[in-house]
Amino acid sequence: MAAVVAAAVVVDVEATKQPVIEVRDLTKVYRMGDHEVRALRGVSLQILPGEFVAVTGPSGSGKSTFMHIAGCLDRPTSGQYLLDGRDVSKVSKDDLARVRNEKIGFVFQGFNLLTRTTALDNVELPLLYRTKNGFRTAERHKRAMAALGAVGLQERHHHMPNQLSGGQQQRVAIARSLINEPSIILADEPTGNLDTRTSIEVMGIFQRLNRERGITVILITHELDIAEYGTRRIRFRDGRIVADMQVVHRRNADDELAALPPPEPDLIVHPETAAPEPAHH
Ligand code: ADP
Repeated sequence: MAAVVAAAVVVDVEATKQPVIEVRDLTKVYRMGDHEVRALRGVSLQILPGEFVAVTGPSGSGKSTFMHIAGCLDRPTSGQYLLDGRDVSKVSKDDLARVRNEKIGFVFQGFNLLTRTTALDNVELPLLYRTKNGFRTAERHKRAMAALGAVGLQERHHHMPNQLSGGQQQRVAIARSLINEPSIILADEPTGNLDTRTSIEVMGIFQRLNRERGITVILITHELDIAEYGTRRIRFRDGRIVADMQVVHRRNADDELAALPPPEPDLIVHPETAAPEPAHH
């Protein structure tokens, strides 16, 4: 009897969790001259804190449009978007930017690092955009070093992006996404430019951040095996959600890496011998 009561209590707590993201009947219409593209045609969805959601679907199905709205980079044409319970579908652009900076970290396929800037400075960059509660230099360095530590790259802090491998550059980008301690990370094809082993390493970092810090991860991918690192998979087609399911046999990146043979030595980039940055004219 006691066990039944305990189980009922657990279910109740789950049911009262407030969604971190809730969208209701979201539409997005792009106008191109006299021509309209209906990129989202009524998307409704709830994402709870701590979920790891993989968004899949063919090219042109509306994934990026959805991510731009979820990431407060754009506003919907109609419908509601509640972020942590607050309706942000109609707030001003400035407020949207503030909310975005506070709550959301972004990771992109192409890393988007500044090329003539050290790893440390790249990671610190979002702190420079803070208008309120800005940090002094020493505090910025400390935070950026901690973020680099979270992705295992502290000792590479003074390296330029071209002295780092693709996987290391993506890890710097993940460190940058963590700098404002976001509750959500949005990643758009983060393994699209990486080989298999490096992709698993990057997915391992996302799984760890999700597990240990409770960060909600939402990741766009067209690769089904990458989607299996998540807890849930949502599929878009023609601007609508056509499937929404829990991942049954979830992959565990750390286990897979432990089972792989060690990387071949010629695949390891030695920053000391990497080509120097071309001179700036
Ligand atoms: P996906 O990320 O799944 O490839 P998108 O969200 O990028 O899909 O695109 C959905 C539809 O909206 C496509 O038909 C695309 O051409 C169109 N679209 C996306 N962004 C714009 C834009 N800025 N202006 C006009 N049309 C756009």
